Amino acid sequence: MSGPNYTSRRSRLLRAIKTAGVDALLLSGESNVRYLTGFTGDSTWLFLSKTATVLISDSRYETQIANECPGLDVDIRDARKPMSVAAADVVKKAKVRQLGFEADHLTVTQHSALHQKVESAELVSTTGLAERLREIKDKWELVQIREAIYQAERGIGVVRSSLRPDQTERDIRYTLEAAMRSFGATGPGFEPIVGVGPTGALPHAHAGDRLVSESPILLIDWGAEAPSGYRSDLTRVFVTGRITRQMRTVYETVLKAQKKAIAAIKPGAKCRSVDAIARRVISNAGFEKYFGHGLGHGFGLDIHESVRMSPISKQVLEPGMVVTVEPGIYLPGKFGVRIEDDILVTNTGHEVLTSVPREFDDAVVEFLA
Ligand code: ZN
Ligand code: ZN
Repeated sequence: MSGPNYTSRRSRLLRAIKTAGVDALLLSGESNVRYLTGFTGDSTWLFLSKTATVLISDSRYETQIANECPGLDVDIRDARKPMSVAAADVVKKAKVRQLGFEADHLTVTQHSALHQKVESAELVSTTGLAERLREIKDKWELVQIREAIYQAERGIGVVRSSLRPDQTERDIRYTLEAAMRSFGATGPGFEPIVGVGPTGALPHAHAGDRLVSESPILLIDWGAEAPSGYRSDLTRVFVTGRITRQMRTVYETVLKAQKKAIAAIKPGAKCRSVDAIARRVISNAGFEKYFGHGLGHGFGLDIHESVRMSPISKQVLEPGMVVTVEPGIYLPGKFGVRIEDDILVTNTGHEVLTSVPREFDDAVVEFLA
């Protein structure tokens, strides 16, 4: 399969730039630059106008840019020349009047330096122009996401079949990361959350010293990063001992909420309505105040990307979007249950890309003897 078409991505962004009412856009968001050029390094900005496309970088990346972005114009700045000055020179040369910048990816310091140097152009704040394009994944991107899912799923299989009561959360994290790498991942898609019992009640806990045997409930939120930079994001809860009736109720409630929400995913569905479906199941079971986060999010080159499924989201699902659906119930000091899968919005409905079994019986794990 041929790789991404960066030229077509940039022409779509140029149309968005025009609609935003600026002549040119200066991109400083690392993943946005990667999405539009294929460049995988950092500290590099992209200037984009109708007449010019220029990567502004430094000598460390000269060879890499030549390899990764053949044919693109590059401005390699001298070590004594700050980024703001180099960018200002490119802007002046292109005779830009209104220059858009990425408000989400430019620091206040960078902005004021740029403002001082680019006297000829007016700086206009923009948000989400490239991120909006990244919401819809093309065929090549879907292959990359499927690969990251494969690596994550093979990785958790290794953890599951080698689970021992004397393992700590950190041991499991290590096993998981190593296993994903052995199946081709360049690393985890983000720092995996491995939480035994009460640790799992903290939605973003770090893996610590707690032993698996300390509680019958183990929560793992993990994903892989494929060599292309695309990621996956899943959560499963494993039952490693005798559980209480409450634990069972919480598990079944979260699963029901997740299934109902996934069933509602299709083009035209409002993100906030999908969120509301899951939230209703959880509040009907009496756990409303224990589900504090949004239902899910887009992902790709970044683990959290545009398309937010939350009560305040104004977005509508479109074919090609890939989102997580991850309701959870967290009982402070006791345990947490979250079940997370990756869903592709198709032309007619959706496809669940992840395939780790999630029924209660599937969650029950035997320790390695
Ligand atoms: Zn996750
Ligand atoms: Zn997630």
